[in-house]
Amino acid sequence: MGLVLPCYILCQSLMKQSSTVNTKADGKKVRSSQCEIDGIILGIEMAMTYLKTCQSCNDSGRILVFCDSNYAIDVIDRKLEAVRYSDFYKRLTDAQSQLKAMDRYVSLLYIVHSGIIGTDTADEMAREFAQSIASSHTDATEDITVTDVYKLATDIVNCSWQRKWNGDNTGRVTYSFIPDVGTKVILPMRKVGVSYCRILLHDTMLNDDSFRTGTSDTYMCECGQERETVEHVLL
Ligand SMILES: [Zn+2]
Repeated sequence: MGLVLPCYILCQSLMKQSSTVNTKADGKKVRSSQCEIDGIILGIEMAMTYLKTCQSCNDSGRILVFCDSNYAIDVIDRKLEAVRYSDFYKRLTDAQSQLKAMDRYVSLLYIVHSGIIGTDTADEMAREFAQSIASSHTDATEDITVTDVYKLATDIVNCSWQRKWNGDNTGRVTYSFIPDVGTKVILPMRKVGVSYCRILLHDTMLNDDSFRTGTSDTYMCECGQERETVEHVLL
């Protein structure tokens, strides 16, 4: 999550021809994933603009868009979260029909971030652009959607909950089974659910627990080998 994250695109062909670089501010207080998604769509739009104005395009009809965010590629490829990204999808649908008419297609390629000249340059320019927004030399919207606020609040709460769960002194048996907060466990039958909860609470009917709570004379298993713990019975 960044406070000011502009989207920055470099188009190599455009740079070679006229040193034109397109930039666009996604706004303040937007999530980085939103910038990545916008970046992909902006890249496709720029490539189409280039191809329309290009006099002697000797290409394969394929537009390669490089991105270092698997999430953004996944969102575009599978059209995930249609409501949140509805504006992006409108532009994408428009781009798709134009590409079809132009007989072109787009390949989205994942690349690692560091060490790639293009991404490092784009990064550097994005930082400069962000500073320009921060110093009010460039305008950027401060609008943030309700969905984004919910997502932001959820992320903060989950992080804080996880931190507490990791460092707490109690509930350590449950923690050993479910270290990640927010994990949902669905059990097929009530009696299985009850047993499962008792295991999580470290309070089963097994001798090891029963002896501790005073309802059994021994903690040993009938087999005489070990304490009758959950691990001994199940594993
Ligand atoms: Zn045994």
